[in-house]
Order: sequence, then structure tokens, then C-alpha cells
Amino acid sequence: MQFDGKSVYKGIALGPVLVLKRHDTQVRRRKVEDAEAEIGRAKTAKEQAKEQLQKLYDKALKEVGESNAAIFEVHQMMLDDEDYLESIHNMIRTEMVNASYAVAVTGDNFAEMFAGMDDDYMKARAADVRDISDRLIRILEGDGEKELSAMEPSVIVADDLSPSETVQMDKEKILGFVTVHGSTNSHTAILARMMNIPALIGVPVNLEEVRTGMMAVVDGFEGKVIFGPDEEQCAQARRRMEEEQEKRRLLESLKGKDNVTSDGRHIHLYANIGSVSDVGYVLENDAGGIGLFRSEFLYLGRDDFPTEEEQFQAYRQVAQTMAGKKVIIRTLDIGADKQVDYFQLGKEDNPAMGYRAIRICLKQPEIFKTQLRALLRATMYGNISIMYPMITSVEEVEQIFAIVKEVQRELDETGIPYRQPEQGIMVETPAAVMISDELAQLVDFFSIGTNDLTQYTLAVDRQNARLDDFYHPHHKAILRMIKMVVDNAHKYGKWAGICGELGADLELTEEFVRMGLDELSVAPSMILRIRKAVREL
Ligand code: PEP
Ligand code: MG
Repeated sequence: MQFDGKSVYKGIALGPVLVLKRHDTQVRRRKVEDAEAEIGRAKTAKEQAKEQLQKLYDKALKEVGESNAAIFEVHQMMLDDEDYLESIHNMIRTEMVNASYAVAVTGDNFAEMFAGMDDDYMKARAADVRDISDRLIRILEGDGEKELSAMEPSVIVADDLSPSETVQMDKEKILGFVTVHGSTNSHTAILARMMNIPALIGVPVNLEEVRTGMMAVVDGFEGKVIFGPDEEQCAQARRRMEEEQEKRRLLESLKGKDNVTSDGRHIHLYANIGSVSDVGYVLENDAGGIGLFRSEFLYLGRDDFPTEEEQFQAYRQVAQTMAGKKVIIRTLDIGADKQVDYFQLGKEDNPAMGYRAIRICLKQPEIFKTQLRALLRATMYGNISIMYPMITSVEEVEQIFAIVKEVQRELDETGIPYRQPEQGIMVETPAAVMISDELAQLVDFFSIGTNDLTQYTLAVDRQNARLDDFYHPHHKAILRMIKMVVDNAHKYGKWAGICGELGADLELTEEFVRMGLDELSVAPSMILRIRKAVREL
């Protein structure tokens, strides 16, 4: 089976598939010959499910406390419920059907029964029955979902992946991504580029026809994926992977060299990261610093806010590891595509233009202050700068600085040391561009977020795959805006960089140098390629 898709990272991968399905998986009814053996499978799956739940309970106990962890205990007890098990076993025996099907039907029946009860507590159990049934089905079908951190090195095949799902995965073990939906500017795509992971989106594959464990070749150059490749196709993929490695070795020879053009123009090349563990990629690719640490990833994939101490440890570790090199940490940019349940943001018709990023921080300063305290404390351990996202006005910056001052006063009162960090803003709204002369007088630096700037300027939702053909970051409007921002920064002696995906666009490197950009912050995997391009100018 071969499919075309849109490539978001050019590379080749070969490996076993891991299919990640959403919970609403359609379970097929199949006839079985040996009912007792099938009941045995159901029993083994139940024991495995209980083990998974025990692990989740232990993890939750440590992270969110006993009362929140209790749900996993309840689920374990429900899995031992006599009536529930009896219904599954009986269906397998009398109808000679597969265990997944018996679990799905039993789960639906029990959920409906609970939902129809008067008692609110019992009504709420409907969702739990569905949850434990889904877990059993996933185990029986070998889909491997949920235990994302414990997976084997695999090519991930999914309908779509949310940032919180992606965050749970052990990135070392992702050989490639293939998704049915998604857009080139989604955070999963950004993650793929960051890790050098060959990735295809918009692949019209029926997930029912792809099995976990089958082999696949992902070809990010041609925008193709082959499921179940033959010997020749595997051999060809291996050859091309070797060629790629050879090219990388050539790039390696650029390590330790300066990012300077032949006429002596120097540009800083920094890296974008989403978590502490990404720092390894930054060092490996010889970036001069971190130009964007998307701190909101610390808030994703969990059930409650990260504490000040947890955040402090993360920022301190990054600052220490970078050993005095610049580390620009962006305050949380939650909202839009990065949804977190415990923020209780509520449903919005237009979340990209909604309650997000700095707007949350200004409206709920307690959340913001916790992060600022952690950031300021971490300034003692390296060269940390703080950057604020989604700025549209001078007033916002003034409000931010007032809150920062308040936090600094509180730290002073308790004798907690910190250094005064550089403070800059993301320029990612047309409003910020148009008043960049005024903003430049307030802040220490600008970092242009071309991903959002493009979506807001061209009125094109960056998440909407249907609009990929209309998402033109090379549009004259965007390039003129970048120039305007750089000029206004320089007028007031401030520096300006780009941390959106456009910064890594090799077709524009020369133009960016000409415009006078001081910095480009890009996926770690792009650092050496851009260094090469700059040195050849
Ligand atoms: C941007 O908008 O260009 C940016 C760098 O921020 P993010 O992609 O996290 O929204
Ligand atoms: Mg942005």
C-alpha cells in the first residue's frame, strides 16, 4: 500500500508501525473458533489493564495527590466487577465472537444503564465504564495507545496528534510520523522538524487497514509512505538513509565555526525547544543559544498546574546546561491549539483569536506570577531572558512590567536572589508590527513569530490543512513587516530576530541577512544548514 501526503520534514524512515487510534475506534465483530481461548485473552487483557491503572495510580499519587489519583483505583475495581465480566464471557461463549467486540457491546450496555439512573453518582459511572472498556479494547487490539512513553522505536500512524499527546511520547523512539489530518504549521509538524523526524501529513490512509507492527517506509523527500514494503523498497530506503547520514557528517564539519558571511556580517543562530530534554539537540547541533523555549509544553499533558518548584527546576537545568549562553524563555502560550483541561478555558468559536497566551496571564495573574517567580529564581543559574507572547499593545507591556516588579518586590522581601533579565516580546500580531517603534522603546528585544504573524496577517488559520495553499509566509506583506520591525528595533538600539518557522527557510536566508536581522531561532536540526548558507553568502 502506498500513499502520498504533504511532507513536513525531509528525511527517510524505515520501521514498524504503531497505530494510534482515537477512543471512538470501531470494533469489528469476528467469529472465533475457540471461545475458551478468547475468554482467556479477555482475562489476560483485564490483568494488563489493572497493571496499567496501578502505574497510573502511583504516578498520579505523586503528582496530583490521593484524592485525584483515586479514580484509577475505582477503575481497577470496576474491571473486577462480576456482572461486567460475566456479560463479556457469556457473550463470547454464546455468540462465539471476539473479545474486543464483547467488551465494546458490554461497555455500551453498561454505560447506557448507568446513564439512565437517577442517582448522579451512578450516572457519572457511565464515562468510567466506557473508559475501562476502551482500555481493554486497546490492549486486545494491540494498539499500544496511552502507554506512549514505553513504546518501541516506531513509525507513528494516526488520524491526528494533539500537542499533549505528542508531549507524552519518548521522542527518541519516534522514527516517523504519518497523519491523516494536521497542517504543516501544527505543533506536531514543528516537533517533527525539531527532531529530524521524517513526517507526512494529509495522508489519505484508512487506519483500519494499517496494523501495528507492520513495516513502513516514510519518504519525506517524495512525500510518500509505503506500508508493507518489499525487500527492494526496504533496501532502497536503507541506502538513502545512509546517504542522508553522509550529508549530515558533512554538516558536522561546520561545528564550532562562526555564522558569518564572506563580507563579515555576523548573525546569531539560536534554537527553538519545547522541553528540557531538547537541550541535547541544541548542543548536538552547536546552536549559539536558545531563542525560544516554548514553556507552555511544561503545562501540557498533565492534570494540574506545574508548581513553582517544578518550573524552577526545569528553567534552572536548561540555563545551567547552556552554560552562560543565551536562553530565551517564553512565558506560557496556552490556548488556541494548545488546550489544557485544568485551565478550564471553555469552548470558544475562534480560539486562535481568543483567550490565550498573555491574555490569560494578565487576567489570571496568579498563574503568571508563579511562572515569573520560577523564571526570576532561575536567572541565578545562567543567562536567562524572558519573552512575552501575543503582544498587541503598549499597555499590555506596561501591565506585564508592573507584575514583574511586584514579583521582584516579593522576592526582595523574602531575600530570594535573582538577576535582572533581558525582557523582550514576540512580534506576532500585525498590531505589534505597526506600533513596533513604540514597543522598541520599552523592551530589550523583538522576536518575530512568523507562524502567527502569517495567520493573522493573511487571515489564514495555520491549523487548517485546507488552507495550506493560501498560507504564504513569503507574501510581500510579511516580508515588509519583518523589515519594518527590524528597522524600528535598530532605531532604538534593540535587536530583532525571528523565531517562527520562516526563520529556517533557506530561500530567505540571504534576504534576512540583508534586512539586518540580528538573530534566527530555528529547529536545532536546521542550525548547521543555515550556518552553511550564511557562510556561503
Ligand atoms: C510563532 O507564532 O511564530 C511562534 C514562534 O510561536 P508558536 O508557533 O509557538 O505560536
Ligand atoms: Mg505564536
